[in-house]
Amino acid sequence: MHAWMSEASLDRADNRRKVPEWVSAQWRRPGARLLLVDSDGQVATDETGSGPAGVPTSGNYNAQLHTFLGLVDGIPWFTTEGPIIGPSASLRHLGAVTGGAALELTVGAVALTAWHRLEPHCSGCGARTRATAGGLTRRCPVCGRVQFPRTDPAVIVAVIDPDDRILLGRQSSWDPGRMSVLAGFVDAGESLEQAVHREVFEESGVRLREVRYFGSQPWPFPRSLMVGFVADSVSAELTIDRDEIEEAAWFTRADLAADLAEGRVIMPGKASIAHRLITAWQGRLLG
Ligand SMILES: [Zn+2]
Repeated sequence: MHAWMSEASLDRADNRRKVPEWVSAQWRRPGARLLLVDSDGQVATDETGSGPAGVPTSGNYNAQLHTFLGLVDGIPWFTTEGPIIGPSASLRHLGAVTGGAALELTVGAVALTAWHRLEPHCSGCGARTRATAGGLTRRCPVCGRVQFPRTDPAVIVAVIDPDDRILLGRQSSWDPGRMSVLAGFVDAGESLEQAVHREVFEESGVRLREVRYFGSQPWPFPRSLMVGFVADSVSAELTIDRDEIEEAAWFTRADLAADLAEGRVIMPGKASIAHRLITAWQGRLLG
């Protein structure tokens, strides 16, 4: 089963972390680790770059700097933003080579450090908020509003035509040859399924017959949750919206295999749910 489909390995200790003394006691525990993330979202790794690497916590715990990620096999993990001396890697890289707790720590650290960096003010009154609950929330000292990390839902969909071909498209800003399944943000007041129908029709002119849930994964660039679907198209006729995508086309498994082998098409990165959707279709696993 895929990493994002089963119960989390990271225990976020949602209730205990509301007690500041408990969180600071975790910081002082032998074995507690601090995972550094820099302002570009690079994560400290081991020498081989094969996984996130924490350093022992030291000095005093500072609730405004040190975010508690949770416990892995009883070991407390924290994160903070700062320059990394030594090897580091991007989430896109680590997402392709890690899984389980290592992946969850990486994604959590990138997501939370970005949130604290990008959204330090109260959305109600504009005052500077203070990190609470071990950095999982921020509270406004002026109006009392409690803010949670924003998550922006986006749908991503493998559209399959009546001949079992997959629809892939590309944005003009992407590297030459890169193709992917269609995706877009969910509008306010819209359901996920409605967003699937709307995005696919807007971008490709294709109407959908049936939409099925595939799976989801966090995508903190900086704060998306990708929700994957599989959809059957009514027909294969395409009307491309050039403002949204540069090109789109239907691929048989043989077409795609040949284009990939010849380098004419490049797959989405291995860490992405787009990669999962396309490889599941290649393996006839979409049902
Ligand atoms: Zn406020």
